[in-house]
Amino acid sequence: MSDKPNPQDLHLDTLAVRMAVERSQYGENSEALYLTSGYVQPSAAASARRFAGEEEGFTYGRYGNPTVASFEQRLAALEGSEACMSTASGMSAILMMCMGLLKAGDHVVCSQSMFGSTIKLIGSDLAKFGVESSFVPQTDVAAWKAAVKPNTKLLFAETPTNPLTEVCDIQALADIAHNAGALLAVDNCFATPALQKPMTLGADIVMHSGTKYLDGQGRVMAGALCASQKLVTESFLPVLKSAGMTLAPFNAWVVLKGLETLGIRMQAQSDNALKLAQWLEAHSAVQRVFYPGLASHPQHALAMRQQSNCGGAVVSFEVKAADPEQARARAFHVLDSMKVLSLSTNLGDTKTLVAHPASTSHGRLTEVQRQAAGVTQGLIRVAVGLEYIDDITADLARGLETL
Ligand SMILES: *Cc1c(COP(=O)(O)O)cnc(C)c1O
Repeated sequence: MSDKPNPQDLHLDTLAVRMAVERSQYGENSEALYLTSGYVQPSAAASARRFAGEEEGFTYGRYGNPTVASFEQRLAALEGSEACMSTASGMSAILMMCMGLLKAGDHVVCSQSMFGSTIKLIGSDLAKFGVESSFVPQTDVAAWKAAVKPNTKLLFAETPTNPLTEVCDIQALADIAHNAGALLAVDNCFATPALQKPMTLGADIVMHSGTKYLDGQGRVMAGALCASQKLVTESFLPVLKSAGMTLAPFNAWVVLKGLETLGIRMQAQSDNALKLAQWLEAHSAVQRVFYPGLASHPQHALAMRQQSNCGGAVVSFEVKAADPEQARARAFHVLDSMKVLSLSTNLGDTKTLVAHPASTSHGRLTEVQRQAAGVTQGLIRVAVGLEYIDDITADLARGLETL
């Protein structure tokens, strides 16, 4: 019983409920929540070895915790990576990655339709410390390749993107990165390992906002980087130790339990999302629908190949309007007419969350950056939850039919 099964022999659904650190001496079936900031050491010599990294064992809460380790082992198994290092939020995972891999004079290539805070962090905050960056069109492989320079150390992609669900070719980007001696990192927040495993397509690092589908019920903030043991030990752990973006044990425990239902949630929410996308596409007040599961999506074939034949759970759409001002007013009318769904900028919840990206998640961007990301005033993002589909469409119809 003490011999752990090899994760490679087990299906994702099994790993999602089983991977964790050893049970304690009490034999608890559900993984324990260890709330402790420090650890008692068995001897001074063992303590010295643990601090030197020569022996396994917990030393201090900023560096590690058994509940946090269970979450990291489970997520690493789902992504098929050797190791994982969790963080307090998705953004702090990106910060940890950049602090661990980049120095002044290095260059990063990202898509111009990345998550708004990611663009801000890499394009503005890191620029203060001398890190250069280029932002290219998400789906244009040639543009990614052309942006690579001798000092390029990292390509960072997010697919599908928020909020337009643009899909990039992970394998093609991995080839570009590796030919340049750089690493490819993929933000796998939207698809999750239930639908897409970037490591199997050549990515070196998978970044997560655990706040979204991994928790899945909108309760806590969390983040993580999945990568080789070498990257985690040599590049990320030193940043965690000195900068302290540590995931709290309670939050780790919540996300750990969230992972147990990841597969069935993603499937059910994606089924709802496809039905909603088809309903919106047929609606006369709707200008355009963005959903990788629709045949009308520009990267539909790539998405189906890369995402387990599934479009995911986020649908965006534009309301019909004559100009940006009217578009904004109409989008606001649809949002303010809802009685069931939540007006909320979060995503990855069992509750359907509806948002206006141009005035929220992308509100801090300049107008030029916002246009480059394709976020118009009439755009509405729906992160589809588990409500009955007819109740979801009825709630959106309330506004769409009274424009
Ligand atoms: C939310 C989000 C993030 C940031 O994660 P936080 O947990 O909010 O810090 C990064 N990337 C994507 C795609 C996201 O949706």
